[in-house]
Formats: sequence, structure tokens, C-alpha cells
Amino acid sequence: PDTLNAEAIREDFPILDRKIGGSELVYLDNGATSQTPQQVIEAIVDYYTQYNANIHRGLHTLSQEASIAYEEAHDTVADFIGADGREEIVFTKNTTEAQNLVAYSWGMNELGPGDEIVLTQMEHHASLVTWQQMCKRTGAEVKYIPITNEGYLDMEAAESLVTDDTKLVSVSHVSNTLGTINPVDELAAIAHDHGAYLFVDGAQSVPTRPVDVGALDADFLAFSGHKMCGPTGSGALYGKKEILEEIEPAFYGGGMIRKVEYEDSTWHDLPWKFEAGTPGICEGIALAAACEYLSDIGMERVQSHEESLAEYAYDQLARCDDVEIFGPPGNDRTGLVSFDVEGIHPHDLSSIVNEHGVAIRAGDHCTQPLHGTLGVPASARASFYIYNTHEEIDVLVDVLHEAREIFH
Ligand code: PMP
Repeated sequence: PDTLNAEAIREDFPILDRKIGGSELVYLDNGATSQTPQQVIEAIVDYYTQYNANIHRGLHTLSQEASIAYEEAHDTVADFIGADGREEIVFTKNTTEAQNLVAYSWGMNELGPGDEIVLTQMEHHASLVTWQQMCKRTGAEVKYIPITNEGYLDMEAAESLVTDDTKLVSVSHVSNTLGTINPVDELAAIAHDHGAYLFVDGAQSVPTRPVDVGALDADFLAFSGHKMCGPTGSGALYGKKEILEEIEPAFYGGGMIRKVEYEDSTWHDLPWKFEAGTPGICEGIALAAACEYLSDIGMERVQSHEESLAEYAYDQLARCDDVEIFGPPGNDRTGLVSFDVEGIHPHDLSSIVNEHGVAIRAGDHCTQPLHGTLGVPASARASFYIYNTHEEIDVLVDVLHEAREIFH
């Protein structure tokens, strides 16, 4: 198969040369934040050394250059996810802000008693808390699609939970805890049958697989730049043009207006209507550079590399009698594995492996209710990206054996 060359890709990432207490860094916390390639770092340096200026407002050269680059960055991001154009791409600081943007612009104005929002039991706090709280404010109700023992969505339950009272279904395309890949196209069809919107949380899918908003028929989709080789503080909300045209802005101020009078104001064209104030100009430009970097590698290759690492890690960890792995089988998941080692708290495990240079996450991964459903307060999570290798997974498994010796 057409695979990517992880060893060659590693050369693009200066941070991977770091030593941690004398050991080689083995960075397996990509589900939280990925590392940044030289190409994206250069886009940031180029911005600040060549054309740093505020956009939209200036007629001078630097402002014009910054404006054009910032606007074109929206086109690049639109292309990356198959959107129809820059009108459908609102830059945000992350996925969380994108969720809140829709909650404040659409939810606050449209939801009321009798309305329902359908989430899943595997939602990240970014959507779970946002919609839970927006429902409390508006009198609407939240419902949760349950998960099966294997960590899949119970689609039969989904069919009956979504009704004509449902106004929006929000689902993680890929679960950041279970690694499950959810059938968002099916959920779109179910939601649309009842006149509801589908909001896809793409925080874990856009970085790791080809995503085409048209094929998914998503009404909204959100993702974060920092999980896909981009800088922190960058992200995007995709919305279908006809919906974005109709809904109210969430934030008001400069940059998003057409005409302002003391009594009233009108709004700028899409997507600027939703980008009040000075945006993350450099962040947006660098997010586009990250999309170009990933497109050059090819998202199909990224996906197959992720899947290969996921399966390998799953198999290696599943061999250990005292390891419990959460979520679907190794050959049906994205590149992350959450697990529990009997008798070792995930925090202790993470500290011990860190002494060997291995970075994994321990905690609830912003899915506290899901951990409650799984029956554990926390888990350890190894999550992979384009520069990770099978050998690094061997290192993880080796240091797990050492951790076990310390504890038993
Ligand atoms: N949703 C999912 C599925 C995630 O994995 C994350 C990040 N852990 C988020 C939302 C939130 O992303 P951010 O913190 O960048 O807003």
C-alpha cells in the first residue's frame, strides 16, 4: 500500500530531536496537541518578519499583504475539508470556541422549552458542557445516544432518540477517548429526516483522515489547528452557507459590521460576520500552512498510517493480561488507545513512562461522563501522528513493563 515515510517526516519536526532526562522523546500525546513542522514554523516567522499588520482596515502594503494572506487562508482551509468556499469557513481559536459560537449565535436565539439537543455519551466536554448549559439557559433538553459495550454508538437508540423535537445533533466524528469512528453520514440523514442540524466535532477526525463536509452532509463542523500541525489558537468552524447567512453573529464589534449607526448596525459578508475584532491573523495563516503540509503528504496516507499504528499498539497492549483497553477493536479505530493497567493509577503510569522520555496522557481526557460509563475515573492514552513509528510503540510497551515492576 501507499504508505507515508514517518522517518522522513520526522526531519520536518525540530522538537522530535529533544531529549527528556537523557532519553529520546517519544511523543504519544498527539490527541491532545500535535507537534509543528518547520514549514508551519516558517509561515509564522515569515508573517512576523515580513508582513505583520492588522487586516481589512489598512491601505498600506503590509496590511494589504496580511489581508490577502488571511483571506486566502480561508480558501485553503475550505479546500482541505471540501467546503464550497471561504464564505463557509469561520476562523476560531479552537473547536471549543466553534461549538460555543453556534450555541450563542443559533442556540440562544432559536432554542426553547420543548426543543431537544441530541449528543452522544462519548462527547468531549467542548460540546457536552456547551449544549448542556445552553439548554439550561433556554429551557431545551439534552439527550444522549448511548454506547455499546464495545464502544460504538447504539444506532438503534439514535433512531428513536432523534425526533421532530430535536433541533441539533452534535457528535464527535472520532472519539478522543475510545478511538471510535462514528457514522456521521448516517447521523446526518437521521437528523435531517427530522429537520435537525448535524454538528460534527471534527477535532480528532480532520487531523487524521480525509474529511469532506459535502460527503458527510454536515451542517456544521469544527476542528482545532493545534491537533493537525498548526499553531495553538487556530481553528475553524465550517457552516453551510445558507445556514450561516441566516443565523445571528455570536460576537459583535469591529470587522464584522457593514454599517453602524447609533441605533442599529448591519453585518458584513460571510465569513467576516462571525469574526469580530482583530482575529488570530498569524494563527489563521499558519493553519492554512498546516493544511498544505498535510495535503502534500496526502490525508489517505495519514489515515492508513494512523490505522496501522492503532492496530499495532492495540495488539501489543492487548497481549498484557493486566491491561484493559477501552473502545473498539484494533482494526477499527483511529490512532489512539486509551487503557488502564491494573493496580497502577494512570497518573503514576504517565509519570513513570515520562522518566523514559515517553509522553502519554493520563486523566479523563475531557470526557468525565464517559469515564463514569466505562467505570473508571481516569485512563492512560497513547495517541499517534504522522511522525510516530512502530518502534516508538515498542518503547511504550517496554517501559510499561518497567512500571509494572515498580508497582508489583
Ligand atoms: N472535541 C474533541 C473530540 C477533542 O478531542 C478535543 C480536544 N481534546 C476538543 C473537542 C476540544 O478541542 P480544543 O481544546 O482545541 O477546543
